[in-house]
Amino acid sequence: MRRSGLCIGCGACVAQADESIAAMRFDGYGQLKPVWSRHGEGHNPQQFGQICPFSPHSRNEDEIAAARFPSVRHSDPLIGRFEAAYVGHVVEGTFRSDGSSGGLANWTAAELLEKNLVDGVAHVVPRSEDEDDRQPLFRYRISRTMEGVREGAKSRYHPVELSGVVDEMRRRPGRYAVVGIPCFVKAVHLLCLQDAVLRERIAFTLGLFCGHMKSARFVESFAWQMGERIGTVSGVDYRLKDARRPANWYMAHLRLKDGSTRSKDWWHLVDGDWGAGFFQNSACNFCDDVTAETADVSFGDAWVEPYTSDGRGTNVVVIRSPLIHDLIGRAAGEGRLELREVDSAFVVRTQAAGFRQRREGLAFRLSWPRAGIRPIKRVTPTFTGLTTRRMLIYWLRSSISAWSHRMFWLARVLHLPALYMGWASASLALYQGITYSRGWVGKLMGRIGWPEE
Ligand SMILES: Cc1cc2nc3c(=O)[nH]c(=O)nc-3n(C[C@H](O)[C@H](O)[C@H](O)COP(=O)(O)OP(=O)(O)OC[C@H]3O[C@@H](n4cnc5c(N)ncnc54)[C@H](O)[C@@H]3O)c2cc1C
Ligand code: SF4
Repeated sequence: MRRSGLCIGCGACVAQADESIAAMRFDGYGQLKPVWSRHGEGHNPQQFGQICPFSPHSRNEDEIAAARFPSVRHSDPLIGRFEAAYVGHVVEGTFRSDGSSGGLANWTAAELLEKNLVDGVAHVVPRSEDEDDRQPLFRYRISRTMEGVREGAKSRYHPVELSGVVDEMRRRPGRYAVVGIPCFVKAVHLLCLQDAVLRERIAFTLGLFCGHMKSARFVESFAWQMGERIGTVSGVDYRLKDARRPANWYMAHLRLKDGSTRSKDWWHLVDGDWGAGFFQNSACNFCDDVTAETADVSFGDAWVEPYTSDGRGTNVVVIRSPLIHDLIGRAAGEGRLELREVDSAFVVRTQAAGFRQRREGLAFRLSWPRAGIRPIKRVTPTFTGLTTRRMLIYWLRSSISAWSHRMFWLARVLHLPALYMGWASASLALYQGITYSRGWVGKLMGRIGWPEE
């Protein structure tokens, strides 16, 4: 999987292998990958093909969701099976201001713990000040207290992996909730299919909608562009909230070890255009699940007006488990949450770009010749039907993803940040010119008579 560019670094295969022969490690591009010890080489963890979320031999999202949610009310080709969908935010406490969006993801995790429906929540927390700074900035942890759960608020566009928390859930009896992006939630359910202990203990999965996963170099690049080195950084907030600005005006915020801070708007960063795909994991080129279709409940950002302009943050929520529906419905009735029911078309509109990339774009990418394992997706490969400009956008996005890893690696080895920055600025100008007719590239496109998108 790794050699075929299909490894997202979830750690599910390592969780299933003996710890003496496999571990998850960062590679030279700042991405987590499984590493097998000498005597483990060639060893395949039990039923590997059925565990890996990108394996062509594992069950797909439709099959997993059909088995988990056989009697839900709705089924949609883009967001999958679901019981109900809502737009809204948390009213009680500081969940909304602490969260990246409307705070509902962390509220639901906390509510499950508070109502004694779980004993622990496996989610992602930042490295604490007293931890060794050779440890990654973020990691999966099982939190068993409300304070612990609250520490997990906010989206982390940083590699993390599940093997440690899976190991802990196996060793320590209890009921657990796991929070994760779509492929991680799928991996958890694939593990549960193989392992009766996990099946019994993992009571809920909370999914996050996903555009793509970044490498650890993304935050290193932030540091470079704010005049710092990653070694001086003690913490990062990818989306510093400011209620006075539109929610989609992301601001990156770094805390430094000397106590000072640095901030910069994403649109002033050479790699801050999410759609351009800088530092994207290559496996994300072969993903067809935007809304975590196998999770009991999934949370995303409501990227439609008037919510986009509301800097306090607003969620879209897709609920599949009746129990979670009841939990959320009751809290809304008590005024602790502010929610309005929406249909699947609304949810799809909030993620229009993500669905284009994971349906039309995926069909196009699947038609390209490639070496190694061929992924099997719920989308049929097609080379035709797109405008030349659209094809160029998909091709450019995928090459920016691939080259950002290599160019950053080279600039890092040569201690020459300007090398990466120069390349990234030129790539961004090309991408934005072709995609949004911006700058000199856009003017040129107009002059040669290429129709607008
Ligand atoms: C890599 C990534 C890509 C995303 N792409 C999109 C997108 O394209 N469109 C969209 O609408 N939403 C996307 N999201 C989800 C969005 O950023 C919010 O997480 C979501 O709207 C929930 O917001 P909230 O305020 O309810 O969450 P919060 O209340 O802030 O809680 C977030 C919860 O998620 C956990 N968490 C944070 N990062 C991770 C992680 N990397 N892996 C597992 N758990 C984590 C935290 O520990 C916490 O429990 C993405 C999230 C991630 C991590
Ligand atoms: S995607 Fe996950 S399960 Fe598949 S090879 Fe990578 S770490 Fe292992």
